[in-house]
Amino acid sequence: RHRRRAAGLTGPGRTADGHPVKLLVNLGAPHELQAAAAADSEGVGLFRTEFLFLDRTEAPSVAEQTDAYARVFAAFAGRRVIVRTLDAGADKPLPFATAADEQNPALGVRGLRTASRDPGLLDDQLLALARAAGDSAAEVWVMAPMVSLPGEAADFAERVRAHGLPRAGAMVEVPAAALRADELARACDFLSIGTNDLSQYAFAADRTLASLAGLLDPWQPALLDLVHLTATAGARHDRPVGVCGEAAADPALALVLTGLGVTSLSAAPAAVPEVRTALAAHPLADCRALAELARTAPDAAAARARVRERLADRD
Ligand code: PEP
Ligand code: MG
Repeated sequence: RHRRRAAGLTGPGRTADGHPVKLLVNLGAPHELQAAAAADSEGVGLFRTEFLFLDRTEAPSVAEQTDAYARVFAAFAGRRVIVRTLDAGADKPLPFATAADEQNPALGVRGLRTASRDPGLLDDQLLALARAAGDSAAEVWVMAPMVSLPGEAADFAERVRAHGLPRAGAMVEVPAAALRADELARACDFLSIGTNDLSQYAFAADRTLASLAGLLDPWQPALLDLVHLTATAGARHDRPVGVCGEAAADPALALVLTGLGVTSLSAAPAAVPEVRTALAAHPLADCRALAELARTAPDAAAARARVRERLADRD
């Protein structure tokens, strides 16, 4: 019944009782730009900027970066674009930004950590982002990957603001960041949970190993606990908390994430309509009940099954 009524829905994400959940798209490469901009969304929740830096021996110039960012901001005029600064290292190695001699690159100098090794890299990127944002009608927010400490978020926010960019955020991808989400929220303007890395680090399971898919399952109740910690901390400080990892693309899990207190969901453009439809069919109280069911399940399979059963009962 709900599904039929919700078919063909457009516009901002809302639960059946009108609680807003921003629906955003992930963007990772120039060839994805057209489809991402054409999607019915409120903007980009995760603009992965690595594509500009890959397959090179040195970083792109400020001018080249400015051009590339300007193209994206122009396509999203009037909408929000959350840019993630360079996330080099581990599964995204770069010869000029990552050390080749690390034994455990996923635990090494990666993400925001590369900026302390080479501050010029981040400064150039922020300069290019500020120039492109200044000439555009997009609402540009900037966030850092792989933040582990509130102090890192505070330093990053200071650098972002020094460039005249209005909003600085921290990705929550490390369990310590989720456990200190209150301090993290205080240190910056918004939080965004990267469930791919948060799973990897919470379960000590390499995200690139297919044989560990069970541990990396985004329905793992312990992962949902970390999302809940982060979302409730964000709410206490009146900060938006998004999910931009792959978990946000599963409509049933999107309901659970909403019930956990997440305020935006960012996924591949193709996943957004189904997520919008699912939200529109369920009031926030139901999302909260589903979240509780999932979080108190003994394992990921049980969490998924419990939520699917409850949803099937309703339809
Ligand atoms: C994540 O870790 O969930 C995330 C969104 O970032 P990436 O997949 O690019 O590491
Ligand atoms: Mg990540």
